[in-house]
Amino acid sequence: MAVKPKHIAVLTSGGDAPGMNAAIRSVVRSCSHFNIKCSGVYRGYQGLIEGDIRTLDARSVNNIINKGGTKLKSARSLDFHEKEGRAKASENLKNLDIDALIVIGGDGSFTGGMIFEREHKIPVIGIPGTIDNDIFGTSHTIGYDTALNTVVEAIDKIRDTAISHNRLFFVEVMGRDAGHIALNVGIGAGAEEILIPEENLGLNRLLESLRRSKKSGKSSSIVVVAEGDKIGKNVFELAQHIEQNLPDYEVRVSVLGHIQRGGTPSCFDRVLASRMGLKAVESLIDGVSAHMVGIQNGEMILTPLNKAIKGKSEIKRELIRVSDIMTL
Ligand code: ATP
Repeated sequence: MAVKPKHIAVLTSGGDAPGMNAAIRSVVRSCSHFNIKCSGVYRGYQGLIEGDIRTLDARSVNNIINKGGTKLKSARSLDFHEKEGRAKASENLKNLDIDALIVIGGDGSFTGGMIFEREHKIPVIGIPGTIDNDIFGTSHTIGYDTALNTVVEAIDKIRDTAISHNRLFFVEVMGRDAGHIALNVGIGAGAEEILIPEENLGLNRLLESLRRSKKSGKSSSIVVVAEGDKIGKNVFELAQHIEQNLPDYEVRVSVLGHIQRGGTPSCFDRVLASRMGLKAVESLIDGVSAHMVGIQNGEMILTPLNKAIKGKSEIKRELIRVSDIMTL
């Protein structure tokens, strides 16, 4: 028989993502529903080590579902990589009678959570919160959908300038080593080319494709480049190479940067976060530990943390075909 937790702590860790607040709210209100005390840990694992922990009740998460960022703040903690740091964190939880932990973050946060669970026998459930969508065991991470919409809107604006000046724009988007954001926004914003780490287009094919575009009558172009793409050393060098080889084009670079992580969460991310928060609390009640909540084919599922960390979230090959045909 699983022992129902009496006091659950929740924290956000790693890079912030829109919808994290909706997930915190969901955890807090789900705890309230099941008569479980809930506390928020501020500044991720660093706050856990420093004892920056405060009780949260259903009312303390009013009016945050629509807010980007994270009410609990996030941090990267070097101390949590050390045994002593984790021991201090465990002591803080014990002093407050906290008997389970929910970690909202990316694969680094889950690695930390998994080690902590093993060392200190505290049940841990992960909720994937990162705009990159680079986590195995879920088709969507919290924040990804909002980021897609933010980036498409930004590229639409860049296109206005591209058209007005007959320019070729290289737009670099986030995603670390994954091309999910680039591939989807590239299709959504009607980009001429999409460069992602999973597919090596090669400089020559890129040049060829841009020459073809020009010949077919296109006077401006958008090329979406995933930050992890390896075709050039960086997007500026890539743009320089193209400009040298295609003097007809006036080339510009736009690196979208951190605007992709902020902003009001989309309805999809709010609903996803609300579902994941409830599922995380219910999983702890069921005696589950060291698992991550995910969504697959519209349903909530659980994946062991070690698989979520080690597995690769593959891009949809079908999208590459769609993109190839749409950019003719
Ligand atoms: P994002 O995808 O936004 O980068 P992330 O969760 O992968 O999010 P990281 O910076 O990799 O972000 O990890 C967040 C925190 O998790 C680290 O600052 C550290 O405190 C903890 N962490 C990561 N890896 C480990 C590890 N091997 N051992 C202990 N703690 C870890």
